[in-house]
Amino acid sequence: LITARGLGKHYGTFQALSGIDLDILKSEVTCLIGPSGSGKSTLLRCLNFLEAYDEGEVRIDGQLVGWQDGKASPRKPVSATKLREQRRQVGMVFQQFNLWPHMTAAQNVAEALVQVKGLSKAEARDKAILALARVNLRDKADNHPSALSGGQQQRVAIARAIAMEPRVVLFDEPTSALDPELVGEVLNVMRDLAADGMTMVVVTHEMGFAAHVANRVAFLDHGKLVACVPPDEIFRQDPADPRIRSFLQTYR
Ligand code: ATP
Ligand code: MG
Repeated sequence: LITARGLGKHYGTFQALSGIDLDILKSEVTCLIGPSGSGKSTLLRCLNFLEAYDEGEVRIDGQLVGWQDGKASPRKPVSATKLREQRRQVGMVFQQFNLWPHMTAAQNVAEALVQVKGLSKAEARDKAILALARVNLRDKADNHPSALSGGQQQRVAIARAIAMEPRVVLFDEPTSALDPELVGEVLNVMRDLAADGMTMVVVTHEMGFAAHVANRVAFLDHGKLVACVPPDEIFRQDPADPRIRSFLQTYR
């Protein structure tokens, strides 16, 4: 579904990513793990061109993302309309939920359905309620964010992403801002979505989730992809790569 080839990204002279080859397969969960500063968020943001990558390519169903396809050098960005269309295929859930405080849960989910997809208010509300039901929040549809727990707010953010019916949802540490007792409910919702065949890329420090839900785990270190393999190859007693071994020791 998404292929990255030779993907690289600089911030000034600092090379945040280099030579990343990654395939995100349809209906699979890919977890991205690695030390702080290894480039996980940067990689995720390059996949939907929230960061403009400067080497290599990212393709969604074969279509180059963000840059006009061709040999032109320097590359030219695609039009704003085209970029919006490309981004519509990719949902995103952040560590901070970024809900509108003055809107109810249902209004938060419905907003982009009206603004971006052009649905009527009534259609958007119906879709929003269905999306909230998928994250087990049907009964909180008319609560404002201030009347929801952190875990519930993050589930609204997930509902907002999936209501747009993206091809893939990118999650950047979706549980890192939550109190420990609220992490499980969000991971359970994500596990259910995965079981329903949602394609997901998840940056996470939840090694249990990576071990049990991911189809493949990608390990990043210093901007390079060290491994992208089934979880049991990462989480076995004695992982092959010393960088993976020392990273996992911090969790044991
Ligand atoms: P964490 O686990 O702490 O979230 P990460 O793996 O997500 O880390 P990134 O946020 O992708 O790491 O950052 C990778 C590197 O790029 C870091 O060294 C960071 O300092 C640098 N970096 C990220 N964003 C910028 C920016 N806008 N300008 C300059 N450097 C940046
Ligand atoms: Mg990050």
